[in-house]
Amino acid sequence: MKLIFLGPPGSGKGTQAKRVAAYLGVPHISTGDMLREAVARETPGGVKARDFIGSGLLVPDELINIILGERIERKDCQKGFVLDGFPRSSGQADMLTKKLQELSMTLDKVIDIIASFQVISERICGRRSCPNCGASYHILYSSPEKKDICNECGNSLVRRSDDTEEVVQARYKEYMEKTMPLSDYYKHKGLLYTVNGELDIEEVYKNIVNIILPKML
Ligand code: AMP
Repeated sequence: MKLIFLGPPGSGKGTQAKRVAAYLGVPHISTGDMLREAVARETPGGVKARDFIGSGLLVPDELINIILGERIERKDCQKGFVLDGFPRSSGQADMLTKKLQELSMTLDKVIDIIASFQVISERICGRRSCPNCGASYHILYSSPEKKDICNECGNSLVRRSDDTEEVVQARYKEYMEKTMPLSDYYKHKGLLYTVNGELDIEEVYKNIVNIILPKML
């Protein structure tokens, strides 16, 4: 099963993509995670990407296309994958279409998770995570027992540097201008399925599983 998850930042696509990938037993490929790792390791690509990420802008297609192209060629993608955060521009979508043709792969479905700016902004600005064990929290909806301390391992929680109100506005603008048009691109290919991302996590998940594997739940 080869899937793409589209949606604005904070729509829940990362959470859902990870869970669906685990359920299907295929790799979860998040370009945001790959870029953050490259930034932390200070690789040449990471150094180039850092300022774009920090200001909420998309990193240039030339850079992310190489990173994604190399990842999708790896053997573990042959049985399937869930793409989370790629493609995000028409240049990336064209590159992906060509790459999949080269690899004789076909996409199965594109899941487009919809949520309003008000909802995503509140979600993103309250997000906290544990850099040690990866547990995630929200200051309003799932706060830790002790303020800013991880329930699981006692580490101090952190906020992603691009999860501020100012950067969220820039990320949303990039989404509206460059990524939202991809919904039409995949609609024309007959691959697009829309999901309401404002419902609670379990409901969104059930709706997605019903789309990708009808009658399984
Ligand atoms: P995410 O974790 O998916 O919200 O991505 C965080 C940031 O990484 C984005 O705001 C972009 O700066 C960058 N990024 C992630 N994926 C892409 C992509 N496909 N194209 C360009 N920039 C990306």
